[in-house]
Formats: sequence, structure tokens, C-alpha cells
Amino acid sequence: MTTNLLDFDLEGMAAFCEQLGQKRFRATQLFRWIHQKGASDFEQMTDLAKALREKLALSARITGLKVVSRHDSTDGTIKWLFDVGAGDVIETVFIPESDRGTLCISSQAGCAVGCRFCSTGHQGFSRNLTTGEIISQLWFAEHFLRKHLGRDERIISNVVMMGMGEPLQNYSQLLPALKVMLDDHGYGLSRRRVTVSTSGVVPMIDRLARDCPVALAVSLHAPHDALRSDLVPLNKKYPIAELLEACTRYQSAAPRDFITFEYCMLDGVNDQPEHARQLVALMKTHAANGLSCKFNLIPFNPFPASGLVRSQMPQVMAFARILMDAGIVTTVRKTRGDDIDAACGQLAGDVQDRTGVDQRMAAQRQGMLGGIKVVVLNKDSA
Ligand code: SAH
Ligand code: SF4
Repeated sequence: MTTNLLDFDLEGMAAFCEQLGQKRFRATQLFRWIHQKGASDFEQMTDLAKALREKLALSARITGLKVVSRHDSTDGTIKWLFDVGAGDVIETVFIPESDRGTLCISSQAGCAVGCRFCSTGHQGFSRNLTTGEIISQLWFAEHFLRKHLGRDERIISNVVMMGMGEPLQNYSQLLPALKVMLDDHGYGLSRRRVTVSTSGVVPMIDRLARDCPVALAVSLHAPHDALRSDLVPLNKKYPIAELLEACTRYQSAAPRDFITFEYCMLDGVNDQPEHARQLVALMKTHAANGLSCKFNLIPFNPFPASGLVRSQMPQVMAFARILMDAGIVTTVRKTRGDDIDAACGQLAGDVQDRTGVDQRMAAQRQGMLGGIKVVVLNKDSA
């Protein structure tokens, strides 16, 4: 079995080169070919001696994920479905904006946390993605977009770990992938442009602070433990006070940064003025210990099995007003890619029912999804 070089950060690649009896600097060359130029074949690597290219081809490969389909939204958002084997499908979403291009990446097939408002949570957990599977989403999307848009410069400027899965429950595979994103020989993204979003795995927040303090987003969704435990079951293990203390410690590792709190607005559940006032009080207590935060209110993206309803916009704005009047920077997230189910919590929402997916794919092949451009690809084409 050959080694997939997409599984390595630069350190791992250097160790691999040493095993082959090569100098460590070869790792930098390989890294740049793969991540900066999108090479998938050693023959392309013209500055490596032919003998080395042949040796590499015998022991290594550069294999990305199998693309199942691509969905192009009218607002420019692109969603890919990737087949990760055994009937599991993961999703990656590209969101273009005037000043940036953001890629939303999955970290697991399914998720074990089981939040009530999240369609991935309702699917249950299938497995952790490998480092190669995590970084392949960026490798593929960046080089696909360059080709597609005919541009020979960086397209993806920001990465958010907000696709399927809880990234901090897949820490050992996540960490090397983050390192590739930040590495100057990889994607060269600054740590402020890479965001890990978590439902609150406290010990891993501390590890991330030590190992790789990128931007942190925490899915809060409720101002007190009773409600949060109902929405985010992990709260029973790591309650709000412990979570916010971990956030405060995180900030001391990444001074000058905010922690972003995500708050999914659920009609009649967590969106009342009283909840906003409780949040203000909570944040004031922790601000005194050095926590500085930003709130991102996310209109809930409904799916039938949740039994939950999206808050009305006036309710969201009234909630935001209470936070802002207390001096908390608050944004309301625009939903993007609604027409292709690419919004938060809708990722691979139809995968639970394999028959449903197959029917849907058949409909897509026949071009039956009105108004939405869908491209279904063969297993091996990219
Ligand atoms: N597991 C991580 C990251 C993936 S979820 C986490 O929970 O943070 C990314 C974001 O989407 C989280 O803030 C999550 O709360 C939000 N989300 C999940 N389902 C949603 C839905 N149906 N509507 C709106 N936001 C949702
Ligand atoms: Fe998992 Fe995040 Fe969905 Fe909760 S919101 S179930 S942690 S992916």
C-alpha cells in the first residue's frame, strides 16, 4: 500500500522523505507542488530528478476525495459532495464574497454530539475523517476554482471548520490539517483566517490553544445550562461556566482576538428578550476575567425531523439590539446557498436515507431540480 502524501503536514512529509533516504528539504518541494500547484502526479514535478520521481511513484500517491456532485447556487456559492466510502458522504461549501473566498470544511462523517437543531447531529456519527480527507477538501476546491475561474492566484482566503462534524472530537487528524493550512509552503493562511468551530469540547480547546491557536468560534445557543443541555447534549459534560473559562484561557494564548459565539435562533426556544438579557449578564461576568467576544446570530435552517422553527426576523433584530446596546459586537449571519441546501446544519441533510439520496441524484442527472445548476460527476472525474 502506498502512502497518501495528503495525509502529511510539513513535519510528517520531512519524516517520510528521510525514510526514503532523501534530504528533508525535498519535503518543502513536494509540499509546494502538491498544495500550491495542485499536482497529483509525480511526473509534473519537473525539478525533481527522474529517478526520484520514479521512486516516489512506487511508494507514494496523491489521492484526493471522490467527487459525487457539484451544486452551483445562483448566489455563487458552490457545494461539493464527496464520497468517503461505506455509504458516507461529506460536504464542502465555497462561499464567495467581495473581499474574501471562504471554504467551509467537514471534519467527520456525521457527528456524535447530536444537537437538536442540526441535521448532521440527527444523522448520528459514522467516523472521523483522516487528515488527508480534511485537507483534500481545501486542496481540491482551491485548484478546481483556479481552473474553473481561469485565475492563477489564491482564491480561498478563509477556512471555517463549520461543515459536518465536531472538529475537536477529531483532534489528532485535525491538527496536521490546520498546520498545512497555515504553512507558508502550504496554503499560507494566517491563523486569523482559519476558524475552528466547536460545540465546546473544553480539554481540546486548551490543547488547541497550545498547539495551534487559530480563530475560535463556540456554538453557545443558550444563556443557561438547562436550555443549553437540551439543545447541545455535550453541555452536560462541559457546562457553560467551564466552557467560558476555557474561552478566556484560549484568548490569553491568542491575545487581541475575539471569541465568536454562534447562536442559532430558534423560534420561542432561545430567542426571547429575556434570553438576550441573560446572555448580557453572563458575558459581563466573564468579561471581568478578560473574555472578549462577538456574537453571530444564525437564523435556524429548518429541516423536518427537528420540529423546530426559524425565529422571525424582527425577533432576531430585537435580540441583536439588546446585545449591541450592552456593547457586544453582534452580527446576523446571511444565509447563503439556500437554493442548494448549503446553509449551516443542512449539510448532507439527505444522506440519512440512502434511497432518498439515490432518488435525488437520479433527479439531478435528469436536470429536474428547477432553477438550480447541478453537475453530477463520474466517480473519477474532478
Ligand atoms: N460541530 C461544530 C462545527 C460544525 S456546525 C459546532 O457545532 O460548532 C457549524 C455551525 O452550524 C454551528 O454553530 C452550529 O450550531 C450551526 N448549525 C447547525 N445546525 C444548524 C441549523 N440547522 N441552522 C443554523 N445553524 C446550524
Ligand atoms: Fe455536531 Fe456541530 Fe451539528 Fe452539534 S451543531 S451536532 S456539534 S455538527
